[in-house]
Amino acid sequence: KAQAQGGYRVLRECLSGARAAENCITALSDGGLRGLGGAGFATGRKWSLVRAQPGPRLMAINADEGEPGTFKDRSILEKAPHAMLEGALIAAWAVEAKEVYIYLRDEYPLARKILAQEIAALEAAGLCAHATFILRRGAGAYICGEESAMLESLEGKRALPRQRPPYVAERGLFGRPTLVNNVETLALVPEILAKGADWFATHGVRGAKGFRSYSVSGRVRAPGVIRAPAGSTARELIERAGGMAQGHDFKAYLPGGASGGILPAALADEPLDFGRLDEFGCFVGSHALVVFSQADDMAAVARNLMRFFAHESCGQCTPCRVGAEKAAALMTRQTWDRPLLEELSQAMADASICGLGQAAPNPLRSVMRFFPQEIGLPEEIGGAS
Ligand code: SF4
Repeated sequence: KAQAQGGYRVLRECLSGARAAENCITALSDGGLRGLGGAGFATGRKWSLVRAQPGPRLMAINADEGEPGTFKDRSILEKAPHAMLEGALIAAWAVEAKEVYIYLRDEYPLARKILAQEIAALEAAGLCAHATFILRRGAGAYICGEESAMLESLEGKRALPRQRPPYVAERGLFGRPTLVNNVETLALVPEILAKGADWFATHGVRGAKGFRSYSVSGRVRAPGVIRAPAGSTARELIERAGGMAQGHDFKAYLPGGASGGILPAALADEPLDFGRLDEFGCFVGSHALVVFSQADDMAAVARNLMRFFAHESCGQCTPCRVGAEKAAALMTRQTWDRPLLEELSQAMADASICGLGQAAPNPLRSVMRFFPQEIGLPEEIGGAS
């Protein structure tokens, strides 16, 4: 049906020689498209890096979406699978990857059904001659959202993140140079190529480029996926989600799911874009906005998140495996031991192998900084300044 309606036009232009791979990569770079799985690496640059490696090359799509509060990829896979599939086939063509692995979250059975049907239809239409899709089910581990752990899992091994270098662009799946992209990133590719880099770049606000699918949940009237300009603020997104739920006053928010830290309502006008929340010890990651109100105990929120990290730690390195457990236990005290928790947080951030352990202390540090009164500490050492 999508093909009958004129879909896959950009892919057809690529395959017919009407478009050159270099031009497509330049358009993505000029448009400012970045990896929307959470890391925000420049997409055009990533494609160039993989393309420059010796073949054979492979591609893997991260459709695991395990970051708490994030559900935008699910929405894309269920409502607009063709955008992602077309983007994936364009990417495979551009980097000359003959196999495209889709690592799909197993809790998304509808998406799996849709993808299987649509991939079969694409094969029948001859649009997959240059690259074969291989659909794999994830087994529910948060760590598989980390690209090298995902590749280990795809290889049939325990999902332990790899040490870098080498980077997966050089030595990834089965030791081959591998392009790893997220669902939303790929879904934006055909639209950017069809409408132009300028069209995309000028959609952003406050210095950001393009638009994003923000997953908005928590104490709002109408939770859901909101496509909004990159650089939108929490206040704007809450407004677009129908405002705060009845009886709830805006108190705090997670700007980037479980790992992006916690910000107070006083900082609701900060642009939610990569690198813009660094000064507050936070990041936007997968753009999952979780909204809290006066009904929420921020110490309990941070404790819950730390327990989540302790549970999901792959156990490979000590700072994360032991640190998260220790921190979760220390956070059950009426009054938090700030110096000890600071030291522990620093060790985890400095010495953990991957992003899970490095980011795990973010919510804990946020609460000590912005909500000291909730953990038995004097107010003057915290604050939103
Ligand atoms: Fe595993 Fe945690 Fe170390 Fe990452 S930081 S490799 S999740 S133990």
